[in-house]
Amino acid sequence: MHAFRYFPMSDMQETEALADGVKRKPAGGTPDHKPPIAEIGLGTSVQYVKGVGPKRFKLLERCGILTLEDLLYYSPLRYEDRCDVTPICRLNVDENAVVRGTIIATQWKGPRYGSKSRIEAFVRDETEQITAVWFNASEHLYKRLIRGHRIILYGKVGCYRWLQMVNPTFTTAETDEGLDKFRAIVPIYPLTEGLRQGELCRIIIPAAQTYANLVEEVVPASVRQANNLLPVQEALKTVHAPPTIEAGDTARRRLIYDEFFVFQTAMAVRKRITGLASGISFRIGPNVDKRIRARFPFTPTAAQERAVREIADDMRSDHPMSRLLQGDVGCGKTLVAAYAMLAALAERAKGRQVAVMAPTEILAEQHFLFLRRLLESAQVRLMLLTGSQSASERKQNLDAILNGDVDLIVGTHALIQEDVEFKNLGLIVIDEQHRFGVAQRHNLGRKGPAPDVLLLTATPIPRTLALTLYGEVDVSIIDEMPPGRAPVRTLLFDSSEEDRAWEAIRQQVAQGHQAFVVYPVIDESDKLDIKGATSEAERLQSGPLASARVCLLHGRMKQEQKDAVMEQFRKRNYDVMVATTVIEVGIDVPNATVMVINHAERLGLAQLHQLRGRVGRAQFPSYCILLAESAGPDAAARLRTLTKTNDGFKIAEEDLRLRGPGEFLGTRQSGLPEFLIGNIVDDREIMETARRDAFALVASDPRLALPEHSVLRRRVLDRYGKRLDIVSIA
Ligand code: ADP
Ligand code: MG
Repeated sequence: MHAFRYFPMSDMQETEALADGVKRKPAGGTPDHKPPIAEIGLGTSVQYVKGVGPKRFKLLERCGILTLEDLLYYSPLRYEDRCDVTPICRLNVDENAVVRGTIIATQWKGPRYGSKSRIEAFVRDETEQITAVWFNASEHLYKRLIRGHRIILYGKVGCYRWLQMVNPTFTTAETDEGLDKFRAIVPIYPLTEGLRQGELCRIIIPAAQTYANLVEEVVPASVRQANNLLPVQEALKTVHAPPTIEAGDTARRRLIYDEFFVFQTAMAVRKRITGLASGISFRIGPNVDKRIRARFPFTPTAAQERAVREIADDMRSDHPMSRLLQGDVGCGKTLVAAYAMLAALAERAKGRQVAVMAPTEILAEQHFLFLRRLLESAQVRLMLLTGSQSASERKQNLDAILNGDVDLIVGTHALIQEDVEFKNLGLIVIDEQHRFGVAQRHNLGRKGPAPDVLLLTATPIPRTLALTLYGEVDVSIIDEMPPGRAPVRTLLFDSSEEDRAWEAIRQQVAQGHQAFVVYPVIDESDKLDIKGATSEAERLQSGPLASARVCLLHGRMKQEQKDAVMEQFRKRNYDVMVATTVIEVGIDVPNATVMVINHAERLGLAQLHQLRGRVGRAQFPSYCILLAESAGPDAAARLRTLTKTNDGFKIAEEDLRLRGPGEFLGTRQSGLPEFLIGNIVDDREIMETARRDAFALVASDPRLALPEHSVLRRRVLDRYGKRLDIVSIA
């Protein structure tokens, strides 16, 4: 058995910091050019901080630490408790521990045959013996290990013939003072290559004690009291050198609150400013309401009704609407959005236009068809604007939009390109909002004088993320499915059992239903061992699904081809659609009852849930079969979440937890703010409290004009003024 473990040499440096105290002069001494303390401010470059030379400055920079303020707020990831000494006989292998004993022998083996040099010390307490081993250590270290002297070791306990610690931190100070300094709660910081924990401790801990007093309180006293928050200066000192782990965690949470509070204040201010802007006050009276409902193919659910009411209220008000409509796949967001569109177009004399933006051409087309049916024999002039139209066609379309010859324009991102100008844009609807960045959203918003904006999202964004991403937006939630839906049954099989999936498809097709078979890529890849849609479509058609009519849909096909296939599938001229994940969003074919997803292990939970939403859209019992390529236990556990719940919010939470916010949203340009200390998943409660407090504060002092809010105001403008376009509070 090899219980051998290497510990980074860095720990040894830490020894000195902790054993000999942080007062020690840092290596290299203090350069003469450092300004006197009185001149140091929070914005001062970290290179003027004691212990930071040019080399460390570079390393700190890589950690995002540029100024003294950055340094003070550079928070530990966690703490290690080195307070309790364990008798050697009670050590557990693989656990960190502190032991205290006497050095009974030492030896130094120089490097041999390419192996590393090794120093060993045999340490004994009243109960047992342990070997401390240091690899590649210096002679200096060896000289500190004196037979008969007391030593305290900290490290992970291993077992290699004997109990041992590899590269432990240690002190040979025999005094109680030395011991006290060694015994501590040690902060563990995020590092970059070349920077060691001990070094960072030696820079940060004294800096925090010296300079924390420069930091002004952003959170007003009343809010601090209400939440029982530590003074920020105390929190900054404690977070780097806490007396107990609990104290460190409390201090950390306090700093996270600060960070979130400033962010949420910015959101509240921004929301207030958008609310002040003047927008269109749509006239939506009982007649308009009745006329719209008369066109609806079904009675809205209670949840749809609620959303409709909220939207109509927004539209009637003379402030521009900014609302996110959230709801699980298949809950019927389109109908609600259609209400808003028709309401915006109701006053014909005003000549207002509505723009609907979808993330893919297929979806844009589907919306277009739905709206065309809904608006049959109405006077509304519709247009579909996509990227694949020819230049001359596009030119014609753009002219029509600019001249007001069309009322309702459905499109892809082609809608937000610079050359698209509306004559009189009244409402923007963005479907599957999470697929567009925030910047794009703003772009479209600038096309006219403050139009109303309605965002739809079928990726149920967990609440915390919604508060962060859309902090300034109102949210309506549809939490109910249209009646008569049987929940989709989800099954997980190993890909070697794929025949069970084909059998399910054959059965459903025999009953007159249709199926989707999804592959992650268009063309198979030998290197990655992934099956591709193209060749699989052929294999299935000529093999397991020979009795069915199979078609193929993927993103590389020409638009007309895609349209034709979609149309034929909708008309039931095909039974099985083999596709890539292009069908993930929005495709609505209620007769489809089976979805088979290949290589499910390669897709995120939220994405799988989206895909699954393509079936179970009518009263028929439906199935989703996940085929996984011999997934490891982690992947299998992840996929099993889907077999257990159909609740998109739960799945999204789980996905967010597993993958982190950046990956979850799939884009860098998602507009997610980066927080230094806080994590929007783990610290969601703090985010919610901070939001509540910040919105209350802005409600009572909208311009942050009160003297007790001046520090907050400055911080908000510094950090978010430009980005959120809220400079106008100044
Ligand atoms: P999503 O919210 O995922 O965009 P859709 O708007 O595409 O969902 O609606 C899903 C399906 O439910 C569609 O087939 C739609 O026609 C149907 N649907 C929507 N609302 C209702 C309703 N109130 N009653 C019955 N069926 C409805
Ligand atoms: Mg939809």
